[in-house]
Amino acid sequence: MKLYLPDEQAMTDFGGQLAQAIDAGAVIFLLGDLGMGKTTLSRGVLRGCGHTGSVKSPTYTLVEPYETPAGTVYHFDLYRLADPEELEYLGIRDYFTDDALCLVEWPEKGQGMLPVPDLEIRLSLSGEGRQLALLTNTQKGQQLVDNLTK
Ligand code: ADP
Ligand code: MG
Repeated sequence: MKLYLPDEQAMTDFGGQLAQAIDAGAVIFLLGDLGMGKTTLSRGVLRGCGHTGSVKSPTYTLVEPYETPAGTVYHFDLYRLADPEELEYLGIRDYFTDDALCLVEWPEKGQGMLPVPDLEIRLSLSGEGRQLALLTNTQKGQQLVDNLTK
């Protein structure tokens, strides 16, 4: 599934739709270069989960936890991770529970230490906006995309 999002507002709105499409937890990888809108999309998802506070990029903390009306959300940004092994010290396994929503920016940096994502979203530049490509790897991910399109 591919979609074109012309501006930041469209990206945030799509995040809201994504949040609505999640039944209970999911692992979502956000792939794409710096400035492609991964954090913007994450912000939209958190808003869609009913989070009203700020959403900062967890670039230095690696992960930011949120307790939202829709459940627990962990927002990762692994850009600064030097070695995937470091995730062991972070207690990475405790985050990827069945009912938590895990949004992961720069999952490439955690290679070998992360679970198979239910959904991968690839963000790329397209004119003034962004192109999103959605790829599902699990039944849960497929259900999520089905919910999105109905
Ligand atoms: P990343 O987390 O991938 O590094 P950010 O979410 O920080 O990227 O976004 C970088 C910039 O891209 C922001 O200025 C944001 O407003 C802009 N942006 C986000 N989505 C879109 C879009 N669909 N079209 C155009 N600009 C966008
Ligand atoms: Mg970011």
